[in-house]
Amino acid sequence: MQEHDDIDILVSEVGPRDGLQSIKSIMPTAAKKAWIAAQAAAGVREIEVCSFVPAKLLPQMADAAEIVRYARTIPGLTVLALVPNFKGAQNAIEAGAHKIALPLSASETHSKANLRKTHDEVIDEVRRIAELLRSLPAGERPGLEGNVATAFGCTLEGPVPERKVVELARRLMEAGVDEVGLSDTTGYANPTQLRRLIKLVRAEVGHDRLSSVHLHNTRGLGLANALAALEEGITTLDSSLGGLGGCPYAPGASGNIVTEDLVFMLDAMGLRTGIDIEKLLAVRQILVDALPGEALYGFTPEAGLPKGYARGGWGVRAAA
Ligand code: ZN
Repeated sequence: MQEHDDIDILVSEVGPRDGLQSIKSIMPTAAKKAWIAAQAAAGVREIEVCSFVPAKLLPQMADAAEIVRYARTIPGLTVLALVPNFKGAQNAIEAGAHKIALPLSASETHSKANLRKTHDEVIDEVRRIAELLRSLPAGERPGLEGNVATAFGCTLEGPVPERKVVELARRLMEAGVDEVGLSDTTGYANPTQLRRLIKLVRAEVGHDRLSSVHLHNTRGLGLANALAALEEGITTLDSSLGGLGGCPYAPGASGNIVTEDLVFMLDAMGLRTGIDIEKLLAVRQILVDALPGEALYGFTPEAGLPKGYARGGWGVRAAA
């Protein structure tokens, strides 16, 4: 994994995983590689490149190992892979992922639909993965993150008790993850709720063990939530180029927060992301060409950059 001392906020691109697994089209392997390379060249430091699930369940991810091996060749890029279970983790490690993320749905109904596992069964998988990782030499050991999914509500169960999210975060840490994340899989979160839950989880697992949130823009609150997370001191924000993505088991939950809009907000506020927004905006064309007919979202790509825009706190300077 890379150190990021020269940036304030790590924008973790999840489009090649969250986006592509949620749409019907299958992006050709060459286009995925071009996308990942172009986005890394624009300055994106971390990309969740795939999910290690059986190809018969998600044919969109059939080339997962090849994509990880390719992404590993890009200097300075942290290659993140999502895994649903121990077998997926084995495959991700073998392919060379720098970091592995495993989702644990706070809603047990969603967990059974998504991973076909109860909470206890997922925690058992996490424990086995953590054991496997500990058996590897320190220099070859990927990081392990546990993500509490549907943390702000579930399309199947409705409200999710906060104490349940806190308890699952604690159980993930006990099972051996390095850190936990909170995922608004369904786009239910609002800023007040998000801030409260970040505080509650940190009080349980430790401030530095929760540094990332995964937000969706399903109800238009994506950037409001991102700002609330920033104000709580969250330093990693997941987003998807063109807002591609959602969850196949959470009907209506379409669209991660849009990377282009998020980077515009952060950059205009003077927060360093390391990303060149003009280069980032140009990457979208790869998606347009490779995914004909798929909806892409985002305001900044449509409106363009403001007249006279210059990177690094333009919005702050312009107003002064
Ligand atoms: Zn998502």
